[in-house]
Amino acid sequence: MNRRWLPALCVRRPCRLPMRPKCMAGSLIDRAAAYVADLVFPHVCAVCGRSLVAGEEVLCLHCRSALPQTHMHLMSPNPLEERLVGTVPVERAVAYCHYDRGSAYARLIQHAKYHGRPVIMRWLARRYAAGLHREGFFDGIDGILPVPMHFLKRMRRGFNQAEWVARGVQDATGLPMFDNLVAAHGHSSQTRRGGFGRWQNAQSLYKTVRPGDIDGLHLLIVDDVVTTGATVLACAAALRQASPTARLSVLAIASARMS
Ligand SMILES: [Zn+2]
Repeated sequence: MNRRWLPALCVRRPCRLPMRPKCMAGSLIDRAAAYVADLVFPHVCAVCGRSLVAGEEVLCLHCRSALPQTHMHLMSPNPLEERLVGTVPVERAVAYCHYDRGSAYARLIQHAKYHGRPVIMRWLARRYAAGLHREGFFDGIDGILPVPMHFLKRMRRGFNQAEWVARGVQDATGLPMFDNLVAAHGHSSQTRRGGFGRWQNAQSLYKTVRPGDIDGLHLLIVDDVVTTGATVLACAAALRQASPTARLSVLAIASARMS
């Protein structure tokens, strides 16, 4: 739907008829609020594009049930924890769904990231964290720490998607959010890099500030997509270097399958 036409429609649901004199009762504030609400949560499924019905939000029931969930928090061994085994100890690592490049759900995440719809990230994170919370995944975790974004990149994009994932986790758990990690300089996208290239690119990118704040705490590093794990491991390395007693876990919305 071309949004430029929306103001020409009556925004009072269920009317939605072309504006006629009797529909002008809708105040400008009502119309503005409805327009903003439609921008934030358009009433179509973000995957299949079908109209959402009452009780549905972001995804229709069909696309929600077809979400390719990993259920990796129930697996032993957990494939993401195995991927992150290395120089920095990561206690728990989970991702909500599989990230299959070119799939409808990968496009959903790209859409959220590159087309200004970070609320999708928050909604997915809230749903995922609520389920994990009931199963005790957050027991012993003291706070959430989103993967930071350099301020120039953040200015260009308008938001840091990892922060929106963190807000969703916070909605479901009430855990505090920490900002003790900063991106020390801008870097190019990881998207087209191979495993070693990602690792090289991520090294020395992150810096811990006020390390005393996180001494002895168990922090959950959150990001939107984990591919090789180079980014979250670089964050973990920066945190542990500054605060060797910090304990670390990882949560992502999606995890790329590794062949
Ligand atoms: Zn759908």
